[in-house]
Amino acid sequence: MLFEIRRRNFIKIMTVSLIIWPSLSFAKPVFETCTNESCVNLEEFSSTMTTVMNEVPELEWVFGFIRKIQLSDTLKSNADVKIKRLKTGQIFFDLIISTKAYVLKDNISKILNSKEVTVFGNSIADPPQYLIELPSKYPGLFYITIHELGHIVDHLFGVNQLQCATPKIESVAIYPVLHAVTRSLNKKEIQFSDVDCVTLKNSFSAVSWSKFLVKPQGVGVYVRTPKSDHTLLDKVCYYENCNKNVTWTQKEVYELYDFLIASSFTTLYSANFSTLEEFGEAFVINYLAMYTENSTYTVNFKNHKGIDFLNKINEPNYIAKRNLLSSILENIEERSNHLK
Ligand SMILES: [Zn+2]
Repeated sequence: MLFEIRRRNFIKIMTVSLIIWPSLSFAKPVFETCTNESCVNLEEFSSTMTTVMNEVPELEWVFGFIRKIQLSDTLKSNADVKIKRLKTGQIFFDLIISTKAYVLKDNISKILNSKEVTVFGNSIADPPQYLIELPSKYPGLFYITIHELGHIVDHLFGVNQLQCATPKIESVAIYPVLHAVTRSLNKKEIQFSDVDCVTLKNSFSAVSWSKFLVKPQGVGVYVRTPKSDHTLLDKVCYYENCNKNVTWTQKEVYELYDFLIASSFTTLYSANFSTLEEFGEAFVINYLAMYTENSTYTVNFKNHKGIDFLNKINEPNYIAKRNLLSSILENIEERSNHLK
């Protein structure tokens, strides 16, 4: 289902057509199709999302590139953006929110804790505990939405462009393909003889990532720079295709988070995934640091040192990335006018 937002005018447009996504039946109210755990009222969804949008006036211009906001029962991640290219060459995006994340719209700590449980399982005695407090009525959706807006900014301004040996691969190495790849690919299992793209020197990507490797069938994986790598990162797996038999010791979990604190990565999720997710996460952290007061974003352990993400961005290993992010975001709203 969706409500449509006209470009540059989202606040005034409250209405909306219904589409059930991803089923092919159109114009059915969502409550007819939802399961017991995930019943969502369309009007409530619409007004909740409008509230979130109104809470980020600095990012209103990004919403101008969103054509639809949809709710999905089948999304594996918490949210996603799909790029839509019109015949005229214009680019729009569909923002998709998972029903599970929507139900927890007021609880981002719980959303991220449960994401981490999928990685480490329930057997860890002292699991990482997210504590996030945001100046929003719906912190869960607030965080998720800003992260996805980061992906849109990345797309619009080519933050994560690659230089590829085969030029046409450059257009392949973007979200639709990346989101279709097998996330759990262990880079050691891949034959690197296929197609090779490198991150551009001095780019945001190049701080932590060296390459993007695409196999002929379109399966790709980002490779970290040696300095940003850690063997335990290969053991981490979010979403589908994870090996359920992987077990973690408490010592490994502590070691992984110690690495994260000292690394150039924003979060474990982005360190595990790609420079695309890294930009999404860095975009959120930067937004919280720049535009909000009294936000909290920490991961804590009962018996070990945790992370304060809003302080981490001031650490020496993060400075290069932070400076690049600032230069990317400078005058970005003005620059976006040229894209329309
Ligand atoms: Zn993302």
